[in-house]
Amino acid sequence: MNALVAPEPLPVALSAEKSALLARLAEGLAAEELYWVAAWSAARAGQAQRGVRPVDLAPVDAPDAPRLTILYGSQTGNARRVAEQLASRSESAGLPVRLVRADGYPQRELAKETHLLVVISTQGDGEPPDDARGFVEFLAGKRAPRLAGLHYAVLGLGDSSYPQFCAIGRQLDERLAQLGAVRFAPLGEADVDVDAVAAPWSAGALEQARGVLGRAAPAAVRSASVHALPTRHAHSREQPFAATVLANQRIVARDSERAVHHLELSLEGSGLRYAPGDAIGIWPTNPPALVAQWLEALRLDGAQEVTHQDRTLPLAQWLSRERELTRLTRAFVAAHAAAGGHADLAHVLRKESAAPFAELLASHQPIDLLRRYRADWHAGELVAALRPLTPRLYSIASSPRAVGEEEVHLTVARVEYAAFGVPHWGAASAFLAAQEEDARVPVFIEANERFRLPADDARDVIMIGPGTGVAPFRAFVQERREAGARGRNWLVFGNRHFTRDFLYQVEWQEALQSGALHRLDLAFSRDAAGKVYVQDRLREQGRELYAWIEGGAHLYVCGDANRMAKDVHAALLDIALAHGGHSPESAREWLADLLTQGRYARDVY
Ligand code: NAP
Repeated sequence: MNALVAPEPLPVALSAEKSALLARLAEGLAAEELYWVAAWSAARAGQAQRGVRPVDLAPVDAPDAPRLTILYGSQTGNARRVAEQLASRSESAGLPVRLVRADGYPQRELAKETHLLVVISTQGDGEPPDDARGFVEFLAGKRAPRLAGLHYAVLGLGDSSYPQFCAIGRQLDERLAQLGAVRFAPLGEADVDVDAVAAPWSAGALEQARGVLGRAAPAAVRSASVHALPTRHAHSREQPFAATVLANQRIVARDSERAVHHLELSLEGSGLRYAPGDAIGIWPTNPPALVAQWLEALRLDGAQEVTHQDRTLPLAQWLSRERELTRLTRAFVAAHAAAGGHADLAHVLRKESAAPFAELLASHQPIDLLRRYRADWHAGELVAALRPLTPRLYSIASSPRAVGEEEVHLTVARVEYAAFGVPHWGAASAFLAAQEEDARVPVFIEANERFRLPADDARDVIMIGPGTGVAPFRAFVQERREAGARGRNWLVFGNRHFTRDFLYQVEWQEALQSGALHRLDLAFSRDAAGKVYVQDRLREQGRELYAWIEGGAHLYVCGDANRMAKDVHAALLDIALAHGGHSPESAREWLADLLTQGRYARDVY
């Protein structure tokens, strides 16, 4: 049975008077106008949380006025940021523009669209971001319209340390052409140092858009964008805030195989605000021991000055703070193979050898390559060949209502392991785990509007978060407790060992006792002969889980994207078959509907 779920009622946080006002305002609005209001409200809420000044509400263009639609799909916020900047610049250039998140885009409008810019990321092994799943499927499917009247350009975002780099951007770019649309700027493919490609691509695409749109657009048309204009003093990814470390505590047993730290940071004086579900961005410094390994392997002097793109710094500083040392990329493998004349390494990069390349990426950090394949690098060429260091995102583990608006908590698993006989580290986790009290850490807030508690606090929530994926659920439970939410909270947590790795055990027990948590299911994977994972617990509790969801519960998954999130997804499909009377196809639709409604939200990477 695919039961219908009533639309979410107006948030109870709204007074009766405001609810009535909102209902009056919405009366008589067409579907696209309602979508527009929804997108504007979501953006405005995000702006308020990020401490940016929202633009004034501008009227929706007359339906037939030519305008540039900027559509984005974003998992971690980068594509959204680039799309917002693009919208801002388009507006400054006098172009009529509207900015839409892919899941707020009324698909039937595509056939009438004349000018479209798409900014979209690719996740892990070639998946679209959750907010663009519906759009990507629609475009790929049989119902996609002919688009002979459309001019378009696509900017793909991705991570070249994954084999399926920018796969979704490529797919959309090709598909739009196949449907008859005319490309007005070539596909852009941005790596994790997004702006290196996004900035010139945006400038070029806008120039082209001006060419094609300028001829058609009446200059007087105003835009109806929902973009944000940063306030002058707001801290951001580019201007991080130096947050003081208030506490840094190991929260697993001494003999745990993996160190997990709980950090508390002060945002005092930053003006930064966050909501449960948001992430905190950290600009790390690479581990000093790793920098030393690099200098030794390359036989280079860390003190020598290196100039790159008009900046001069000692090589050691380039390597510590400016360059990515822990993730291998195709570009660096190619450059290193060329520098050392290693034909066998270059061979791995050939198109037909996708599997060996994926295997190399998964098993080697760049330092392993430097050791295994010797090459003489000039310091300047090395700095130019390496990818700029990028910030890492951690799901916030606190609610500002519980810990105060100027404090933020995070949960960090320190990545440290031996391979090829030497220690290896993860850049940000090693950096954070090593921070002492009163140290300063460069941070910013990355809003995650798709990972929010239900506006209606009478709804139940089911939270699935193995390992450090539990972080945002600590924030959720704190928030619901402080708000006196009426719905029930169900947490499914898993980790390696009960006695060593039960993150926040005391807090969960207290929450159970106080009634802030209603159900807790645990899966410790290494305590018994066979593995037990969170999805096993879900299957065991399938009947009840299905009943909660059909009763309107919101479902959340946080943690590893590559295996766990897929296995949990498969378990949810099985549960729909076993307890909802679904066919395989209707089970898929049921879950896809939950995703589209925002009742199945994932924070996975
Ligand atoms: P982890 O390595 O993901 O392991 C946690 C538990 O999950 C272990 O018991 C593990 O069992 C089990 N597990 C392994 N494969 C699984 C599968 N296919 N399905 C279900 N469970 C599985 O834990 P972690 O080191 O704490 O890392 C959590 C992940 O969350 C990382 O990928 C991280 O990047 C991601 N993440 C973290 C945050 C954050 O803010 N901290 C936010 C979003 C995502 P075994 O090891 O015994 O097999």
